[in-house]
Amino acid sequence: SREWHLIARPEGWPDPERDFALREVEIPEPAEGQVLVRNLHLSVDPYMRGRMSDAKSYVEPYALGKPMLGGAVGTVVASRAEGFAEGDHVLHHFGWREYAVFDARSAVKVDPGLAPLSTYLGVLGMTGLTAYAGLLRVAGLKEGDTVFVSGAAGAVGSQVGQLARLKGAARVIGSAGSAEKVRLLTEEYGFHAAFNYKDGPVREQLAEAAPDGIDVYFDNVGGEHLEAAIASIKLHGRIAVCGMISQYNATEPSPAPRNLAQIIAKRFRMEGLLVGDHYDLQPKFVEEVSAWVRSGELKYHETVVTGIENTADAFMGMLRGENTGKMLVTLEN
Ligand code: NDP
Repeated sequence: SREWHLIARPEGWPDPERDFALREVEIPEPAEGQVLVRNLHLSVDPYMRGRMSDAKSYVEPYALGKPMLGGAVGTVVASRAEGFAEGDHVLHHFGWREYAVFDARSAVKVDPGLAPLSTYLGVLGMTGLTAYAGLLRVAGLKEGDTVFVSGAAGAVGSQVGQLARLKGAARVIGSAGSAEKVRLLTEEYGFHAAFNYKDGPVREQLAEAAPDGIDVYFDNVGGEHLEAAIASIKLHGRIAVCGMISQYNATEPSPAPRNLAQIIAKRFRMEGLLVGDHYDLQPKFVEEVSAWVRSGELKYHETVVTGIENTADAFMGMLRGENTGKMLVTLEN
């Protein structure tokens, strides 16, 4: 069995050759209370970049010389835990490896008959709940709002924009990093306007797309995007800060946003969001979103890379924007 270890802490952009290693290990035997799982789909996510550093944060840093962790879905191949049998499918946190052995209490059973297994990592999984809770609870979306979301062609962002539309937003605007992604936003996801942030200053492009301003900004990017949103936000607007991916590989703090003082005159509210706080919404989220997925009103993309050996490249590709929708590694072949 092969698994990815973190062998050095990246400074700036990770260098997979220097920082990660694919190691061959024996397939472990499950102990009492444990399951052995053959992984089928691995998630690579932006937050993993944070765990590669040893700065204090809301999740433990990855240990050096140990396998990295991350969302995964797999098949139970041996069980010494009550309630888990060979052939069951489970969602768990022991990704970045082909086989995982762990305490069955940290596994959640998932049903491939209800939805494709990969969707438990994306549209019906962690990134989906982030979009749902962030938009509806943290940003407090109201009918008639004008909503701006950055990272809009990614896993979280594409769902935020579509949920906003389905929940009665008057106007939904998205930004993404390529012409192809921008086209997808307006033509497939039903955004009212979209722009490529690489085409010119975000502030100007946003002002053009939202001439009357925005009520809600869902931030996945930080920096220049956040500054532009502050410039466009209306009186009593809301900003849900979900991520700041433009800074995850930065070696210097970002100067933007330089206009935060506008929070006073505009009395806008800005609040950070951690998906872990919102699992109480999970049943409602799955019920509502799976119905929209089935009816075709909510569309999702997955960018799938095949093979455990390509996991580090998939992670790096996601940071560079090579994904549309959820970036996944599949080990099925
Ligand atoms: P995505 O699927 O959106 O993938 C990341 C995307 O970020 C890339 O595709 C790329 O798209 C974009 N990107 C990369 N660098 C930059 C940059 N410098 N400026 C603008 N865009 C950039 O990932 P997720 O949907 O999983 O995550 C989106 C955000 O949500 C991240 O910030 C993540 O940290 C955050 N998050 C937060 C959670 C929480 O609980 N707070 C939970 C889950 C995610 P492009 O081609 O458009 O540049």
